Amino acid sequence: MMKLFALLVVGGGLLLPVSALAWGGAGHQLIAAEAYRQLSPELKAATFVVLAAHPDFAKWTNAYHPNSSYDVAAYVFMRSATWPDEIRKTDNKFDHPEWHFIDYPLRPPGFAFEPDARPTNNVLFGISECEKALGNTNAEPVLRAAMLSYLIHLVGDEHQPLHCSSLFNATYTNGDRGGNDLYVMPAQKGIGLHGVWDGLLGSAMSPRLQWNYATVLLTKSPASALPELKAHTMPKAWSLESRQLAIEFGYLRGQLKGATQAEDAPPLPADYLKNAKAVAEKQGALAGYRLADEIRAYLKCAGPVPLLPENKFDAVPATLPEKISPELAGKFYDETLVVTGKVVAVTERPTITILELDKAYPNAFFTAVVFPENAGKFGDLKKLAQQNVEISGTIIQYRNKPEIILESPDQIKVAK
Ligand SMILES: [Zn+2]
Repeated sequence: MMKLFALLVVGGGLLLPVSALAWGGAGHQLIAAEAYRQLSPELKAATFVVLAAHPDFAKWTNAYHPNSSYDVAAYVFMRSATWPDEIRKTDNKFDHPEWHFIDYPLRPPGFAFEPDARPTNNVLFGISECEKALGNTNAEPVLRAAMLSYLIHLVGDEHQPLHCSSLFNATYTNGDRGGNDLYVMPAQKGIGLHGVWDGLLGSAMSPRLQWNYATVLLTKSPASALPELKAHTMPKAWSLESRQLAIEFGYLRGQLKGATQAEDAPPLPADYLKNAKAVAEKQGALAGYRLADEIRAYLKCAGPVPLLPENKFDAVPATLPEKISPELAGKFYDETLVVTGKVVAVTERPTITILELDKAYPNAFFTAVVFPENAGKFGDLKKLAQQNVEISGTIIQYRNKPEIILESPDQIKVAK
């Protein structure tokens, strides 16, 4: 009984429920990274000054690991992108659950436009509150910090098509809550359509991976290749773009088959995920450019802000060890390495599979995790129990412990 309890605690703590989070944390960090990279040195410094009043600022700066890619200010900016989801359903005074979306009702087959039922409490209202607070240098610093964090988050939310729509038909007479109540099967098991879209910009909450992904996306979609940036400059117009994408690519103009229960979920049509991913990446790029524009337009500071010091990172050892033990993994955050050890526990849960090396919970040094969308590639992971393995990948920090996210079977080898 004790053992079961311990396993539940480990698994339960590892992943937030995907259905509640737009884009998942990874997508929000990606959009934040894109926007941050485009800001002037003055505005980068200004965001850091504003976020210094945030209730979680010390937690974020403490979690930062110096590295050559991004400095602490960029890290804090990326971390603040997920905070509005982290405080959802808590009694935090800054929790605004209604701000994360705008539910334009979608009614096939005509999809005639209908306004949101909550015109004064939705993502557009939330963004306008952020703009107001950031433009007012006399507003309370903690409010300005919270609202900057919200702006970074909400511009992302608004570009997730299923955050701007809810399907109404004979099955969903009160709407499908942005696809949360409509189940489909992208791989082995049924999940909410909303969750499928949330995961399209990555599942790893790794600032390093998302920082690099931002470079890739900005190169793939330069501003000059996105006519929408000039055509639609206001948040309302962005929400209407998302609504249209939900109709065409989310619900396939009403032809998408779904179920009200995960067990009955039908598979997604061929090409659905490929097309959805292309839409998500374009939306991710637009969100990054538009977030940078919002910050340029609205973020005011009372006086000049000193520029941030250059990111001089000299803590990298000249040569990294090729292989390390699980015990040492916590010394190499954000580095890509091979960790070698013995698998002492394999825990399979619907939301995650966890491998622990050398020591198990609560004394685990290091874990490797597989999310459900990749589980099918690995076969039976239970077979690895008691084997010596080599696990390669980027070491990230999760709840103060090192972990590697396994996305491909080449990342794990059984040692001879
Ligand atoms: Zn959200």
